[in-house]
Amino acid sequence: MDFSKLLQDNNAYTDFKNNYMRGNIGQAYLFTCPDRLTASEFVLEIAKLLLCENSCGCGVCANCKKINAKTHPDVLIYPKDKAFMVDDAGDIYNKVQIKPMLANIKVFIINQIDNSTEQAQNKILKIIEEPPENVIFLMTATNQNKVLPTILSRVSKQEIGKINTEDIQKIISDDGEIAKIASICGDGYLGKTLSIINDSEFVDDYKNMLNMLKNMKKSEQIPQFNAYFSKNKQIFENSLMLLGDFYRDMLMIKLGCAKLVKHTNLIGDYNTIVTEYSNMALVNIIRDLNEAKQKMDSNVNLITLTDNMLLKILEVKFLCK
Ligand SMILES: [Zn+2]
Repeated sequence: MDFSKLLQDNNAYTDFKNNYMRGNIGQAYLFTCPDRLTASEFVLEIAKLLLCENSCGCGVCANCKKINAKTHPDVLIYPKDKAFMVDDAGDIYNKVQIKPMLANIKVFIINQIDNSTEQAQNKILKIIEEPPENVIFLMTATNQNKVLPTILSRVSKQEIGKINTEDIQKIISDDGEIAKIASICGDGYLGKTLSIINDSEFVDDYKNMLNMLKNMKKSEQIPQFNAYFSKNKQIFENSLMLLGDFYRDMLMIKLGCAKLVKHTNLIGDYNTIVTEYSNMALVNIIRDLNEAKQKMDSNVNLITLTDNMLLKILEVKFLCK
């Protein structure tokens, strides 16, 4: 699957490219995005743009091909292991003075600089404070708050926006239904979308939650739905996310903001189901779902948690009629 074109359509890419074409280019950048894969693929596109023999990140010239294969000697990618460590910073310190081998510039990619120690960040700070000419640092972070303010003040910051979910679907479309559900639930992020595709149970979760939404009417049915919901933590997490989506979508319909509905394929279903809920009920249920998620994080018994949550959904539905 090649997502290059989609990443190149991103506003963050266009902004960078426009500045680059005008010769307005810095030596240290921080690209932020909540999704790791989107960010790491994005910075590879930037590296291609910088080194491309056709000046456009064409993907087919020798430099672009090597960057795609992550074998370009002038594009060094960190961390070498899971997180960026002092050793990685030391490695950069040693390599930064060595001239590029094939290109005119040398690019150091540091993925998830936020997932590193203060010590490692301080070490990299020293390097980006006075970098040699022809060296560019492309860093990514999922959480900018965990990057040292001293680094933040030294870099050009840019947020990588979401990708259109339909465009993602076109690229992953090997199986229609899964691709559609995954691209919608993936929220416009590559990593999230692909992890849903690789989660063989996700489509079941989706169907089960939709079934529950349509058919759970009485408290006697709770054990039946709970049996699926509380099978394991992953299913619970997926199901909770999906229910949250569905109830938010229905609230949007109630409020006359159908444009903001995420699962547009379900609008027909929503229009029928939503008649059973008042606005207040939907607001309360969304709040209850968020509370359940927080409780799950604190390791409460899943069956009890789900029981309470499903009961609350029914109660609120009737109380707020
Ligand atoms: Zn190229």
